[in-house]
Amino acid sequence: MYVCGPTVYNDVHLGNCRTFVSFDVIYRYLLYLGYKVRYVRNVTDVGHLEGDADTGAEDKMAKRARLEQLEPMEVAQKYTNGFHDMMRVFNTLSPSIEPRATGHIPEQIEMVQQILDNGFAYVANGSVYFDTTKYANDSGMYGELSGRKIEDLIAESRDNLKNQDEKRHPSDFAIWIKADPSHLMHWNSPWSVGFPGWHLECSAMSTKYLGKQFDIHGGGNDLKFPHHENEVAQNFGSCGCGPAHYWLHTNMLLLNGKKMSKSDGNSIMPNELFTGNSTHVSKGYSPMVVRFFMLQSHYRSTLDLTDEALQAAEKGYRRLMEGIATLNGLQAKDNAPAGALDAEITTLIDGVHEEMSDDFNTPKALAKLFELVSKINGLKDGHLAMEELSGATLERLKSTFQDFVFTIFGLLDESTAASDDQFATMDGLMQLVIEMRSDARTRKDWGAADKIRDTLKAVGIVLKDGKEGTAWVKE
Ligand SMILES: [Zn+2]
Repeated sequence: MYVCGPTVYNDVHLGNCRTFVSFDVIYRYLLYLGYKVRYVRNVTDVGHLEGDADTGAEDKMAKRARLEQLEPMEVAQKYTNGFHDMMRVFNTLSPSIEPRATGHIPEQIEMVQQILDNGFAYVANGSVYFDTTKYANDSGMYGELSGRKIEDLIAESRDNLKNQDEKRHPSDFAIWIKADPSHLMHWNSPWSVGFPGWHLECSAMSTKYLGKQFDIHGGGNDLKFPHHENEVAQNFGSCGCGPAHYWLHTNMLLLNGKKMSKSDGNSIMPNELFTGNSTHVSKGYSPMVVRFFMLQSHYRSTLDLTDEALQAAEKGYRRLMEGIATLNGLQAKDNAPAGALDAEITTLIDGVHEEMSDDFNTPKALAKLFELVSKINGLKDGHLAMEELSGATLERLKSTFQDFVFTIFGLLDESTAASDDQFATMDGLMQLVIEMRSDARTRKDWGAADKIRDTLKAVGIVLKDGKEGTAWVKE
């Protein structure tokens, strides 16, 4: 499985997190089913050109490097680290291989050469362009993935691609670009000192690690065109076939029914969502609640993030965790026969597996799990009879919840136990500090007392003196 990874010149946004959480669940489910999965997810650390190169555009990596006064590779490292941190927060598994575009320049140059040798590209003024006309004629495939016609492609590409005059056809695209002298990231090649075209890295790296043809290629919907369409073209041009048997595209994450956009204020970053530091949410939501929220929609559907939906997700997540705790406390009756309830629960368990096997339908699988939670609660409060449930089915019920909720959906139990523990430790420490301050005041050591108060304030803890003694609050 190959998934187009992040472009590392800024913080990962929530829409990307949705994509990578979706593929994490797909990866986890394939592993659970017993497949040997090689999961390749690249890091794009070569900057893409911004705007129209004729007006002196610089690539996004270089622009960020200039703004932050860093080396381009420092920018890439900084945001790669940030991306990895966020993936850990969301409890995603690491891919098997995470290749970087800049670490695969020789492979990309080799692929450009193969495409040239096969007659699907031409050199113009040190740049190399993919010949879409020849490709469309020879393969009949251009536009197949995105459902676009070559006439549309021409119209769309006319205005926004650089160096139109070097191209034989407006829909042709660059696979190697001659760098102007100010371009920071550049490499030697047979055609010029330059850098690879945007789409080339994924063709080169997927072929290197997964072969000419592999099972699944994934990415966000916005990559379908032109990125994936051009990947297919490049693979056809270099080895005569498209790369993937199945294309999986995740749909958009909306905010309050609209596309997220920083410029009109309709956006929220992951950390703002966790802390509640945003006008779009009434409070913070934990990473596992957000992960649960994402699972409530099929990966191919749009997902609308609203405060109400997150509140509902928080309730749902808690209900699920409580259901598991209740389930783990249930014990089978000796020699319980398999009654009607047993059959009903067995059907629901089978349903969970069937839904996930139907294009990874997490919302429907979750719905079945919640039907099972109702049964579990019924068994606990006596509405349903434990006598009707066989020991074997109860064991299967327990393993289904363990497997799906934790192993496949990748949720963690952020139960109150853990945070209560942390609070108890914190409160113990704070009582000690309050006592020390009180002692200092008794000694009339105002300096020490003030120092304690001010140091706490600096880390957001405020002491409140009252009749009953001193209390502490975190601001
Ligand atoms: Zn890609």
